[in-house]
Amino acid sequence: MLSSVLPRALTHLQLSWSYSRSVTCQRKWRCTGVFLAPDQSRCSTVVCQRWNSSSVQEAVPTDPQPAGGRQRLVILGTGWGSYSVLKCIDKKQYDVLVVSPRNHFLFTPLLASTTVGTLEFRSIIEPIRNTGFRDSAHFHLSYATDLDLVNKSLSVTSVLQPTPTAAPLSYKISYDKLVIGVGALSSTFGVPGVEEHAFFLKEIHDARRIRNRILSNFELALQPGIDKEEAERLLHVVIVGGGPTGVEFGAELYDFIEQDVARLYKQQREQVRVTLVESNQILSSFDDRLRAYAEKKITQRKRFSLKQSSVVEVTATEVRLKGGEVLPCGLVVWSTGLAPHYFTRSLEVEKNARGQIVTDGHLQVKSDISSDAFAIGDCADIEDTPLPCTAQVAERQGRYLADFLNKGCPSDPEPFRFKNMGMLAYIGRYEALTDTPVARLQGFHSWLLWRSAYLTRLGSWRLRMQVPVDWLKTLIFGRDISRF
Ligand SMILES: Cc1cc2nc3c(=O)[nH]c(=O)nc-3n(C[C@H](O)[C@H](O)[C@H](O)COP(=O)(O)OP(=O)(O)OC[C@H]3O[C@@H](n4cnc5c(N)ncnc54)[C@H](O)[C@@H]3O)c2cc1C
Repeated sequence: MLSSVLPRALTHLQLSWSYSRSVTCQRKWRCTGVFLAPDQSRCSTVVCQRWNSSSVQEAVPTDPQPAGGRQRLVILGTGWGSYSVLKCIDKKQYDVLVVSPRNHFLFTPLLASTTVGTLEFRSIIEPIRNTGFRDSAHFHLSYATDLDLVNKSLSVTSVLQPTPTAAPLSYKISYDKLVIGVGALSSTFGVPGVEEHAFFLKEIHDARRIRNRILSNFELALQPGIDKEEAERLLHVVIVGGGPTGVEFGAELYDFIEQDVARLYKQQREQVRVTLVESNQILSSFDDRLRAYAEKKITQRKRFSLKQSSVVEVTATEVRLKGGEVLPCGLVVWSTGLAPHYFTRSLEVEKNARGQIVTDGHLQVKSDISSDAFAIGDCADIEDTPLPCTAQVAERQGRYLADFLNKGCPSDPEPFRFKNMGMLAYIGRYEALTDTPVARLQGFHSWLLWRSAYLTRLGSWRLRMQVPVDWLKTLIFGRDISRF
């Protein structure tokens, strides 16, 4: 079968797309940590402090120095960049400590598939401890909250609390080398109501919330006392942002409606509507012909519409557009760009206009005189070499950095160079777009390529087994619509 041959051929094909990198930095309070509620909903507590004020709780100093002449490498984050460093670093040379509020690596390109149950959540995440730590205490389920570049010391706050009323545990970790790979947040562009009412699609708990909201709205729309108008509101999904994430979420939703809603919620099928709002053009980083193809496909779909406009407000029940149009809806998925993470904002280092940490060509933080701090991925920007915020860039930077560190940080290394291998996007109904330097494809063959490419890029053999099993289960039995 083609799909079993292609993965080998595509081992080196990686995926990329451009993200809008606008920055909103209006908060006067520094948020040092976001604690997930037990149900993993967005956040239950935000630990905030005034800029430059002392820590939330007395810091507890930690850690003996590494033995055997090894250096201590501290990696912040478990995303594309950091995970790539972790996998490639020589652990004989370094004691590797990882600090992250997330104890897994998330394969973001397939996140949209989990929002409707095409894939299961655990099929696209890899526990970080599977990479193997010298000491099990070398992984810290914590946030970095502050960085002292002079004394090479990091303040961190645990994600967990020993008892519900206890203050978050804070302590310090010293480092010899530091890799900052904390990623970025979804940008709200300061639009009122987005933070409170819209759903982001960045983490696995975001996907879980979206899936539950979709299923809840379908059930609610059937209950006695819900009139036709209210049912239509509940079954209207508004997607804000026509980048790859917004388009791929719409594609997954379309498949869900066509394949499962048609079977399980027959009466409601006609009431379902999806509106994609984009202020410019969808998939703007793709080739014009491919973009036009996707636009034609989306607009041809019954119950789907594209609106070229900007959102000015989101409330619990509707989205308001510039020009006054109001869209009553039961779910808003917001996918419009990136803003710097709280930690990145708090750092007093050189940053670009978008709030990203500026590095030199070797990924060293420009403002760090020790040259022992590095920044990679979405939170960083190489001076005079702007790169897209993509997994492809973050992963390559991670590999480059691990190699640089493994060689003992040579004084005159080759700078990081990025070669774009292309972009892929799923547009629904077994069709995708492929935009690479060697080929531009659309339709079914491109979809085979899309699936095969993602399969080869999954972080482990366990995931490479689980994902095709999920795809097969969905094909044979349909999506699991259990709500829990
Ligand atoms: C739905 C979706 C689909 C995507 N699809 C694609 C695609 O197909 N192709 C592509 O190239 N790109 C894609 N991207 C973009 C890609 O995922 C990002 O560019 C990539 O994740 C950036 O990697 P990173 O390592 O910089 O950050 P991330 O992968 O976001 O990881 C950041 C890590 O830092 C941790 N962290 C946050 N704050 C702190 C702190 N204070 N202290 C310690 N750790 C912290 C986080 O928990 C996380 O583990 C997609 C993104 C999304 C959201």
